[in-house]
Amino acid sequence: MLILVVNCGSSSIKYKLMDMEQENVLLSGLAERIGISGSRIKQENSKGEELVLEQDLPNHKVALENILKCITDAKYGAVSDVIEIKAVGHRVVHGGEKFNQSVVINEELIKVLEEMSELAPLHNPPNIVGIKTCQELMPHAAQVAVFDTAFHAAMPKEAYTYAIPYEYYEKYGIRRYGFHGTSHKFVSRRAAEILGKPVEDLKIIVCHLGNGSSISAVGKGVSQDTSMGFTPLPGLPMGTRTGDIDPAIIPFLMEKEKLSVDEIGNILNKKSGVLGVSGLSSDFRDLEDAAQQGNERAELALSMFAYSIIKYVGAYTAALGGLDALVFTGGIGENSKNVRARVLKAFAYTGLEIDEEKNNSRGKEVIISKEGSPFVAMVVPTNEELMIARETKELVQ
Ligand code: AMP
Repeated sequence: MLILVVNCGSSSIKYKLMDMEQENVLLSGLAERIGISGSRIKQENSKGEELVLEQDLPNHKVALENILKCITDAKYGAVSDVIEIKAVGHRVVHGGEKFNQSVVINEELIKVLEEMSELAPLHNPPNIVGIKTCQELMPHAAQVAVFDTAFHAAMPKEAYTYAIPYEYYEKYGIRRYGFHGTSHKFVSRRAAEILGKPVEDLKIIVCHLGNGSSISAVGKGVSQDTSMGFTPLPGLPMGTRTGDIDPAIIPFLMEKEKLSVDEIGNILNKKSGVLGVSGLSSDFRDLEDAAQQGNERAELALSMFAYSIIKYVGAYTAALGGLDALVFTGGIGENSKNVRARVLKAFAYTGLEIDEEKNNSRGKEVIISKEGSPFVAMVVPTNEELMIARETKELVQ
């Protein structure tokens, strides 16, 4: 069964065509700078051949039309006709309280999704445009929405309720939702497979560390708590997002600096995190290089990041009532031995020992704690597209 996985952002569309018989990637691509000058599509097929289409892409519809041309390209494509694609799996950022699992999209559900856009005004609208356009261009194919929030929908009430007047939860749905759910689900399941135990029997903490970072406590196979909240802003300090801060800082800064709602939002989302602290970069490779050369603020940003992870791991171990596996994933979690070592060293008091040689690896599945440690520390590369394709296949079948 051929499934197209689509991730529509505000100015880009990432896509992957997968043959789900063997879970093979037939091709993957990216349309970028949609609605901006210099737009293009870059696609690579399973032979490693690259197709670059420099073309004006004024909107998502034109971008998707051209993506379908690239997918069916006689030389660089993977199918001769889009009719061969059985279903499209769409990444949708916010499923609110209504969607606690993936769904096959129909007209009624599109309306519900549109109503929910105010919870994720930057992310959900392009996701919906992607769904509608694929419905139009591929009417034969089932459209499935896979939500970033769905895996966290099982969180207990005490984990998702904020201590603000309860009426705001009832009126506006203000509560913790959590994000990166597709990754947390994929990684926790894969970790259980590697450990050879049912995921339901394990207490797992997943650290998804990338440009955006979140941690989740997975118990009984579902998310029991997670560090992101009503929006993807809280939790760990991120590339450019604050993570947890005292909320009173916001009105204080708005008053002192005469900032509008948009301006403070921009500072909290785009100018904070490790970029804000270091004044240098949001990329951990740059920060690690600079810290090594003695840059104190780069070092501070890195140690704040690790300290925040350590605090969450401690808290979630208590919340889960123990810990079987601590799993690192995402661009930083998969690639930075430095961040992993900084975090794991804090747990030496439990008897945890790092296998330095195994930790000295990048982007592959590996157990990095020594045998006999009280819990297993491991790296599991995430694969959100595969998870989306699997959920899509399951629903279509
Ligand atoms: P993601 O958002 O999951 O794609 O992660 C992207 C981030 O991973 C980049 O911004 C870098 O900060 C980080 N990253 C990628 N490769 C490395 C590496 N070799 N060492 C440290 N950080 C890395």
